[in-house]
Amino acid sequence: MYEHKWQSGEAVSLPVGKVVCVGRNYAEHAKELNNPIPTEPLLFMKPSTSLVDFSKPVKIPAGFGEVHYESEISILIGSRLSINEDGSLPSQEQAKQAICGVGVALDLTLRDLQGQLKEKGQPWEKAKAFDGSCPVTAFVPVDQAGDLFDMSIALEIDGVQVQSGSSKDMLTPVYALLSYISQFFTLLPGDVVLTGTPKGVGKISSGQSMVLTLDGRYQVTSKSC
Ligand code: ZN
Repeated sequence: MYEHKWQSGEAVSLPVGKVVCVGRNYAEHAKELNNPIPTEPLLFMKPSTSLVDFSKPVKIPAGFGEVHYESEISILIGSRLSINEDGSLPSQEQAKQAICGVGVALDLTLRDLQGQLKEKGQPWEKAKAFDGSCPVTAFVPVDQAGDLFDMSIALEIDGVQVQSGSSKDMLTPVYALLSYISQFFTLLPGDVVLTGTPKGVGKISSGQSMVLTLDGRYQVTSKSC
């Protein structure tokens, strides 16, 4: 069973909750898939059963067409964040206080199936929220994680860098994103938020090696199977 871990290897004493994700939060990624740049965050969710430990072999589903990687900065929620009693959205400061950890995740996507679902105007869940669709690294405590607004992220596959980006290019930056999310979905301790992928998404198959790097210094390796 998956449980949240700190970078030190210690277990995080929080339950494993839902994952709230944002699509097209980097303009260059929206463009590469010929999608319009959204004027508001495009949200979707993955259930707790989507979470797996990235450092263990990552299972790539077979039989549903192409599977794509999307590397994303992940945020671990440490305290409840919801709309205020007076109906106002949480402030930047309230959003900041709700964060306890930062890591990297893969938003695995059954891209062919997603295309078919989009064409029919159907929900994305089967393509985005399946079991094991959210491999996550252990989390760095937020006070040791560096600047959330200028944080680099990179993914290497079989020794080739396929994605690199910086949180400074997010269309909706982290605090504003958490605040926006909380008007629809209360964020609870143990929930995870994925903050969108930079450009360079592509196909992943079984038998490949992967390296995720956060902020140029926190590196986690894995392989697909
Ligand atoms: Zn994504």
